[in-house]
Amino acid sequence: MPTLQEKKPARPIRRSHVRPLRELIFGDLWEYDPAPETADPKLKPRYDLFIGGRFVLPATGKYFDSINPANEQKLAELALGGAADVDAAYQAAARAFDSGWGRMPGRERGKFLYRVARLLQDRAREFAVAETMDNGKPIKETRDFDVPMAAAHFFYHAGWADKLDYVAPGRRMAPLGVVGQVIPWNFPLLMLSWKIAPALAVGNCVVIKPATNTSITAVKLAEIFQDAGLPPGVVNVITGPGATGGILMAHPAAAKIAFTGSTEVGKVIMRSVAGSDKRMTMELGGKAANIVFDDAPIDQAVEGIVNGIFFNQGQVCCAGSRLLVHEPVAGLVVAKLKQRLRVLRVGDPLDKNTDVGAIVSRAQLETIQRYLDIGVKEGAEMWQPPCRLPPKGFFMPPTIFTGVTQSHRIAREEIFGPVLSILTFRTIDEAIEKANNTAYGLSAGVWTDKGSRILKMSTELKAGVVWANTFNKFDPASPFGGYKESGFGREGGRQGLLDYGKLI
Ligand code: NAD
Repeated sequence: MPTLQEKKPARPIRRSHVRPLRELIFGDLWEYDPAPETADPKLKPRYDLFIGGRFVLPATGKYFDSINPANEQKLAELALGGAADVDAAYQAAARAFDSGWGRMPGRERGKFLYRVARLLQDRAREFAVAETMDNGKPIKETRDFDVPMAAAHFFYHAGWADKLDYVAPGRRMAPLGVVGQVIPWNFPLLMLSWKIAPALAVGNCVVIKPATNTSITAVKLAEIFQDAGLPPGVVNVITGPGATGGILMAHPAAAKIAFTGSTEVGKVIMRSVAGSDKRMTMELGGKAANIVFDDAPIDQAVEGIVNGIFFNQGQVCCAGSRLLVHEPVAGLVVAKLKQRLRVLRVGDPLDKNTDVGAIVSRAQLETIQRYLDIGVKEGAEMWQPPCRLPPKGFFMPPTIFTGVTQSHRIAREEIFGPVLSILTFRTIDEAIEKANNTAYGLSAGVWTDKGSRILKMSTELKAGVVWANTFNKFDPASPFGGYKESGFGREGGRQGLLDYGKLI
């Protein structure tokens, strides 16, 4: 037996044999098993146009494919509506308005809206899966946010339908007639409910076009309108490309048009209806600043930054795509942010553990990639966490750029992807000046311990929504809308209702 002195010295530990703690925590060790959502989205192979309460063949005789962006497989065929279809939809809506919907007592209209909300809740899982497959956003977002919030909008506006005499003191509210609406692909079902519920609550009828890429929940919602017994023609759904949207917006029978989409298309629409007496609401693009002061609760702020830009793959009009961080804490915030991004799960949107799903289309993925190249060429430093992307589908890792200045295009233009541009500031005035130095003005976020600073910032920031110590919070009672090139008009709350009626 060896004596103490003779005992062989312990082998020195080679660094390469020790798995760094970070790797143990963030590496393969903690990989979850797949947990796919299994509910049946109940998709039909082909969907027609919803006009006058029935699904009808398109006059064009044409259909287009809807693709699942997570695996590039075809989900369904959708009717391609043309000018004759848009015209038929406006005629059906006008008939529905004249034959009773516009004059129906609010308490009766409200019952239909309540019914739609409840039916949506009954079929919530089916709608969440359909939305995730069509749009690519993670199931936990469609399940916990999009579908419940869509139902909440119908509930909220059902409550208003019999209280329109209280919208403005001493005034009554009357509907406008038929409303034309066009929506984007980032919150397909939620945007439908934002647009349809207030219009119907006030007594208008609707012709609506969903985005070309994401029309499936629109035609499924039309099934719910049928099940709810909504009178024929009160809501008409026309699927099709942008050109169909142009025809719908410029149609002479539209008393009001409501558009949500890019600033570029918003301008085209405004030019096309200039000189008409149509009422208009425009919900357009954004380039929001998320502003973090040195006294902010840093961990919560990092969570808010992640939620602000990587939620829904950054495809959110009010996404916090610019981070303005106070210089004393800039290093700490960036380090913590990188640590957090390393554990975000990018992949199958139907998996309940996925944080970042698929980008909606190949074209959008290519646009985002072009912006990454632009950022690098302009001299900003790009960082992405190591992650394995699925072999098929349109995926993009969360990306941050440091060393960004205000003149960089990635700090000025809407990228609409999971890309964060990080800038720093020294004083509160510099933060305000940089946050407002954009053509847009949809939203902003402020992270600080000081109430007085929150008040000053929310007064001076030119943004429709300013969140304090949180980000991306929504409520049907809370009006939403933009400043400057982010548009005009409000959606949600009492202000949103005012945009859908006339006070008499
Ligand atoms: P987009 O402007 O390309 O398309 C929006 C809708 O307009 C689609 O239904 C499209 O088919 C239709 N369209 C396209 N060309 C048209 C035309 N000439 N006339 C009429 N309709 C036309 O936008 P997108 O890429 O679908 O969505 C992303 C944009 O939407 C982003 O800029 C985002 O910021 C914005 N957005 C804004 C809000 C908001 O509330 N402010 C909300 C969501 C999205």
